[in-house]
Parts: sequence; C-alpha cells; structure tokens
Amino acid sequence: MDGTMEAARGPNTRTEHFDVLIVGAGISGVGGAYHLRQQCPGKSFVVLETLESFGGTWLTHKYPGIRSDSDLYTFGYRFKPWVGPPIATAAEILSYMGEVIEENDLARHIRYNHKITSARWSSADALWTLEAIDKATGQIRRFTANFLWMCQGYYRHDKGYTPDWPGLSDYKGRLVHPQTWPDDLDLKGKRVVVIGSGATAATVVPAIAGDCAHVTVLQRSPTYFIPGRNENELANTLRELQVDETWIHEIVRRKVLHDQAEFTRRSVEEPEVVREELLAGVRACLGDMADSVIDPHFTPRYRPWRQRIAFVPDGDLFQGVVAGKASIVTDEIERFTDKGIVLKSGQVLEADVVIAATGFDLNVLGDIAFELDGKPLNFAETVTYRGMMFTGIPNMVWVFGYFRASWTLRADLVSDFVCRLLNHMDELGSRRVEVALRPEDAGMTLGPWIDPENFNPGYLMRGMHLLPKAGDKPEWRHSQDYWREKDTLPAIDLDDPAFVYDGGAASATSQRPEVSLSLK
Ligand SMILES: Cc1cc2nc3c(=O)[nH]c(=O)nc-3n(C[C@H](O)[C@H](O)[C@H](O)COP(=O)(O)OP(=O)(O)OC[C@H]3O[C@@H](n4cnc5c(N)ncnc54)[C@H](O)[C@@H]3O)c2cc1C
Repeated sequence: MDGTMEAARGPNTRTEHFDVLIVGAGISGVGGAYHLRQQCPGKSFVVLETLESFGGTWLTHKYPGIRSDSDLYTFGYRFKPWVGPPIATAAEILSYMGEVIEENDLARHIRYNHKITSARWSSADALWTLEAIDKATGQIRRFTANFLWMCQGYYRHDKGYTPDWPGLSDYKGRLVHPQTWPDDLDLKGKRVVVIGSGATAATVVPAIAGDCAHVTVLQRSPTYFIPGRNENELANTLRELQVDETWIHEIVRRKVLHDQAEFTRRSVEEPEVVREELLAGVRACLGDMADSVIDPHFTPRYRPWRQRIAFVPDGDLFQGVVAGKASIVTDEIERFTDKGIVLKSGQVLEADVVIAATGFDLNVLGDIAFELDGKPLNFAETVTYRGMMFTGIPNMVWVFGYFRASWTLRADLVSDFVCRLLNHMDELGSRRVEVALRPEDAGMTLGPWIDPENFNPGYLMRGMHLLPKAGDKPEWRHSQDYWREKDTLPAIDLDDPAFVYDGGAASATSQRPEVSLSLK
C-alpha cells in the first residue's frame, strides 16, 4: 500500500494513514526510515518528531564541546561511510545525518514539531491511532498506522535530571544543566563547579576551562577514562593507499569491534590488569601531578566496564588539570548555600555558576499515553522479546541500543528485523503480530531489564521499575552483546511460537504474563 489515506474525523482533525509510523528522528528513526525504504519499498511511512529538526540527542545537547564518546565508524550507520576523525562533534554527526536524509530522499517522510501524546491500539481494526500536537500551529493531528516503530530513545529530552539537593533554593549563583544549556551563559572569569564525572563532565570541562577563572569538577566517585589520539591509524593507512571509503568504513568497523570485544573480554577475565592499564594511561597524562591526584580522584571503585568508559581525545581533560585551570574534588554534597556548596568533609566550594552534569531522566515510550483496546498500558508489566518487542503489545518494536558498543550497531540490526517481520507479515497476509511466552517459558524467572550487577548507571537505577522485565532465556532478554546479536538477530525464526500472528493463541488483552508474581 502506498500513499496516505485521509478521512475526516470532526471539523478540524483529519486522520492520515501510514503502513508504518516511526516515532523520533534521531539516529535510530532516520536509520529506520532508510532501511524501510530499502527493504520494504512498498510501505508508506511517516516519521513524527517533536523537535524542530533531526538528530535527537545531537540536536538537544548544545553544551560546549558536545561530542560522541563512541567512534563514528561504529556509531555511524553501516551503510554510510564515516570519513572524519573517529570522535565527532554534535555538528559533525548532524551533518552526517543530514547527508543520509538528503541522499535517500527521506525529508519528505519526516514531520518536525509533532509531539505525539497518545497511542491507542484497536484489536478490532488492527490499527494504532496516534495523536500529535503540531507545535507550529497548536493543532492536534491524528494518524493511524499498522505498525509502530518506536525510535524515541530512552531519556526525556526537554529537561535533564537534577537531584533535589538541600538548600538549592538558597543558591544565588546560576545553576545550569548541560541538557538545557542557556544561549546567554557567559563563563568568562567565573568560578565554576561542574557536578559529575561522566562523559558529559569530561567534555564540558576542557571546552570551558580556558574561559573560566577556575573549574572544579565535583565528583562523588571517580570514573575510568581512556585518553588517546582522535585518529584511527588503520583508516589513515587505508586512505594513504587510496582504498575506497566504503571499504575503509567496513574494515575499520571490523577492527574497532574486534578490539572492543577483546577489551570487554579482558575486562571480565582480568579486571585488575585492565584497571592498571587504564590508570597508567591517565597517569601518563597527569605527569608530575599523577601521584597527588590519581588516588582518590581517578581510581574508580567499580570493575572496568560496569559503566561506560569515557574516551578523552588527546587527553584534553587532563591538560586542564595539569595547567591548573581545572581541579578535581571527590566528595559529597552536604548542602547548597547562597554562595556555593558545602561538602560532607566540611570543605566549601564557592561558585558563580554550578553545572549539574548529573544525567537524565529515563523515559520509556516517549511520554506517550498508550492504550490497548481502551486499557492503559503499563510497560513494566510486559516481558521483552530480545529488547525489541514486548508481550501483549501488538505491531510495535522499540529500538534500544547498546551501552558498551555503539547504539547504532543495534539500530541497524533492529531495522533489519523490523523489515523482515513486516515482509513476513505480508507473505502470511497477517495484520497483527505480537510476542507471547511459549509453553516452555511457563514459570520462567523474570528480572529487571538490565542486571544491575552488569551495568548500573544512575538513570537506569532510578528508572528500572518503569521498564519491561527480562526472562532468563536469550529470547526474553536484551543481551547487550553486539557480538552475539549480529548473528542471532538475523537468524530469528519468525515462525517460532513466540510470534503470534493475528491473535493466534494469545492476544493483547487475553494473555499477559503474571509478571508481578514471578519477579525476582
Ligand atoms: C550527551 C550524550 C552523548 C551520547 N554519546 C553516545 C555515543 O558516543 N555513543 C553511543 O552509542 N551512544 C551515545 N549516547 C546515547 C545516545 O542517546 C544514543 O546513542 C543515540 O543517539 C540515541 O538515538 P535515538 O535516535 O535512539 O534516540 P534519541 O537521540 O533520544 O532521539 C529520539 C528522538 O525521538 C523524539 N521523540 C521522543 N518522544 C517523542 C514523542 N512523544 N513524539 C515525537 N517525537 C518524540 C525526540 O525528540 C528525539 O529527537 C549519548 C547520549 C547522550 C545524552
């Protein structure tokens, strides 16, 4: 079916119909649109995006220095060669995505300024009905779609997470969150405290240190960093040999992935050795200062790889520390005062500006009110099929990428899966598909979406109760393992009993797993 079907639904609201509706025009949604055009050329589709343009994460974040912490050979799509330095600025990523949109004629499928507020599934019609606010006009737009492709990311875009510190309202300086960086912020000559030690802090600090009177990084606990040159030697060599960029992209991707797999294996098998190597890298950047700051400021308490490790291009974070423009304090906040922060140790940090690099709020399903046949959907009561589909939710896939490997690796794999599933439904003449636990899954132990022993950043810990549950079999978990999934996802048998077509034995309303009873 091609084109859109329009039907009047009241004086001002018309309904447009598409075979597939993609939520969000970030890296996942734009990738999804590309794959859909390539692999399901007959399908009509639309991408609805709240923001005024594409890019998602890379459009929202405008703080100084914003850049990727993954290499773009793997964060870039598999189908579009990356030709710049491995670590890219937000502007470079947006430009790359813009080329993907232009080269593949995707712009006409994307509607910006459309914030989806509700999504209702009707079993009788085998259709999703969505309402979106057109932010340009304030009007409600209505859409129907056979299939929902959720590419809304995993955190709330309009506001970051700021803890409710005691005394915060007394503070007379300016409090800024990197996610909503103000255009008018002038840091010249200011005393700045950056709270947090993750990738965001590591990016902001070198970018602002030159301007400020001084930057203090206040961290509760240290993070692992990998300092290195922002270059890929293999890519450089292949370019010198005038190898085609398509080949370079594929070869360098394979090399990066090979090296990452090795690093992950070693982090698990010999964490102490890896830890010493990481600390040695930081030590080398700190020179004579190393002995005085490495412990306690750069020696994490957790195993390498339990949280994302931040790559620091050219060691720029450490240059600021060595030059005396930036310093690190490892302590906890007791309270804010009008002038700054009192720490648990009693130390006082006076600050004209406090930057709260304290992360974001997990947001599942894009803050959209979901209903299945008139009943509100509680996402946390579902069980995930390989981190893509959810028991009892028909015709819907969510793209949730990897933490330890580039997100886009999975966005590409999930796209292949969606397109294969849509084509399979066409072959079967089916209008509806959902996943359901099979007889052999009865009594399966259910646990959280991600095992906190495996990966435990703050936003996940704060929001885990909102996420679907995982089982103890590979089918019912998001493995977070690209190296396994690159083979298993393409090999999924779409006729496995886990897939129920057209209601089959299960339906959205009749067979929900009893999640609360069997939860670990
Ligand atoms: C600062 C920062 C740096 C990061 N760096 C890396 C990195 O280097 N490597 C890596 O692998 N990962 C990184 N990540 C994780 C990153 O978010 C993902 O890699 C990736 O960009 C997510 O893409 P996405 O398209 O799935 O989601 P997003 O980028 O979050 O985009 C989702 C889009 O959906 C839209 N949307 C949401 N809800 C609705 C709605 N109701 N209606 C309409 N539109 C909606 C949003 O406006 C947004 O544009 C980083 C994250 C952050 C915050």
